[in-house]
Amino acid sequence: MPQMNHYDVIIIGTGAGGGTLAYTLAPSGKRILLLERGDYLPREKDNWSPRAVNVEAKYNTKEVWRDHHGQPLHPHTNYYVGGNTKFYGAALFRLRHEDFGEIKHYGGVSPAWPITYEEMEPYYGQAERLYQVHGQRGEDPTEPHASAPYPYPPVSHEPRLQHLSDDFARLGLRPFHTPLGVMLDENNRQHSRCIRCDTCDGFPCLVFAKADAQVCCVGPALQHQNVTLLTNAHVLRLETSSSGREVTAVHVEYNGRQEVFSADIVVASCGAINSAALLLRSTNDRHPDGLANSSGVVGRHYMGHINSVLMDISECPNPTVFQKSLAINDFYFGVEEWEYPMGHISFVGKRDAETLKAGAPAIAPGFTLELMARHSLDFWLTSEDLPDPDNRVTLDRDGNIVLTYKPNNEEGHKRLVEKLKGLMQQQTKCTVHGHACHVGLFSRDLFVGQRIPLAGVAHQNGTIRFGIDPKTSALDVNCKAHDVDNLYVVDASFFPSSGAVNPALTIMANALRVGDHLREKLG
Ligand SMILES: Cc1cc2nc3c(=O)[nH]c(=O)nc-3n(C[C@H](O)[C@H](O)[C@H](O)COP(=O)(O)OP(=O)(O)OC[C@H]3O[C@@H](n4cnc5c(N)ncnc54)[C@H](O)[C@@H]3O)c2cc1C
Ligand code: SF4
Repeated sequence: MPQMNHYDVIIIGTGAGGGTLAYTLAPSGKRILLLERGDYLPREKDNWSPRAVNVEAKYNTKEVWRDHHGQPLHPHTNYYVGGNTKFYGAALFRLRHEDFGEIKHYGGVSPAWPITYEEMEPYYGQAERLYQVHGQRGEDPTEPHASAPYPYPPVSHEPRLQHLSDDFARLGLRPFHTPLGVMLDENNRQHSRCIRCDTCDGFPCLVFAKADAQVCCVGPALQHQNVTLLTNAHVLRLETSSSGREVTAVHVEYNGRQEVFSADIVVASCGAINSAALLLRSTNDRHPDGLANSSGVVGRHYMGHINSVLMDISECPNPTVFQKSLAINDFYFGVEEWEYPMGHISFVGKRDAETLKAGAPAIAPGFTLELMARHSLDFWLTSEDLPDPDNRVTLDRDGNIVLTYKPNNEEGHKRLVEKLKGLMQQQTKCTVHGHACHVGLFSRDLFVGQRIPLAGVAHQNGTIRFGIDPKTSALDVNCKAHDVDNLYVVDASFFPSSGAVNPALTIMANALRVGDHLREKLG
């Protein structure tokens, strides 16, 4: 007989959503069980090895999904305590005020959220403090109102990026310091936890100086006697009472054994793809199309942003170590000649030759990857993709994940890429190296662009959307399932639309908001 253990709250998944919720509920004294399918990420030198991380994909899940053609998909996602925040670039943005309303795009409409920015604002502030965000208010032309300054000063630009920032400003833009969750103390580098290294974005932090969900939330939550974490605990299915109104059992494969747990409140926070898959696997007589899916939206409206890396390979080398400090939002809502939203420009971590080897784009003959990496400015461009019900997570006959996705709303992104290229061609001479920087190594600018493929599910969201109408949404405004009284979802699934900034801070802020609701509900 499986063992039956009852808790006040079970949280499935310990990433941005689940980890943050555990942190905020921990002081309540309620018995909380965290179920995490992964283990603790091993702390080892490979954490900072581009070969291990990017070429060998050592830490990625080995799970194989399928695309809608049945082709294998090796998802770039990670199952560990802390979830994908162990690997994230820690760019921690608030959605814009306007993103909470309906926005007309060239490719369609980005729907409104059922809550306002004002309702989220205090939680954004709490999340910024919890995740130690370093930034500077007042620089970003699209930033929403904030009731407090960032808790820490911005991460400074290294000379090459400062030069670029000055050039953008000269061209009439308002470049700004990317808000970042890294524990860098630039006034006291000797004692700073963060050493400002070149293996941050996409890598785990070996010295625990990245503000991830394990370091900031799961670890502190586990200081409370009432919180228990089981690692290697893969939740397979949720079972309900005969009425279908309560989750009564959480079926788990724990270290190879089948176990069953139950709780007054069950929270799924497995990431937008895995939470949808979990609900779809949990069919029963009352929920024939998947748990909490009377609306039919579970798994649908998958979004992941339209993301590109654009490498601008200039004549001058780019010796920057930590490249993620600079961002541009001047084109976020469009420009005079193009009234539709275009998106956000920032940087990925500095590309190195090993990493380029992993996805080597077509380059000119004789142009070595080392040279290319030494000279590149590695931009990251994000535009909003729109929620299409046919872009969705389904299961194959064996219960494995199938991800169907047709890109949409791409015109704004294409224009954003062209805009950036145009700006780069207007750069002034480089004062750092004394050469004309942006004539390019081939006497013209050389751009190498790459769209992030379907397997790049880093920004996955939208698959269990929240809303007021139970016919068109699966969750209510508190992220409780319309159809089930004790089931909540707090990962990125709840997004009805995704804006064009990185999603993690919004997931964290929302988990704090749902945490307030749950504390009240639990008494
Ligand atoms: C390389 C990379 C860079 C990124 N950079 C940024 C950035 O700079 N800024 C930003 O805002 N966002 C960034 N992101 C995205 C960000 O990490 C995610 O948006 C965020 O972590 C999602 O939070 P979540 O709670 O939805 O899911 P996750 O953080 O993925 O957490 C889900 C957790 O659930 C566990 N789980 C899954 N299924 C089960 C199951 N069945 N049973 C038990 N446990 C389960 C997983 O192991 C995982 O721990 C990045 C992501 C990646 C991969
Ligand atoms: S830059 Fe700082 S936070 Fe990022 S990995 Fe390096 S030491 Fe860690």
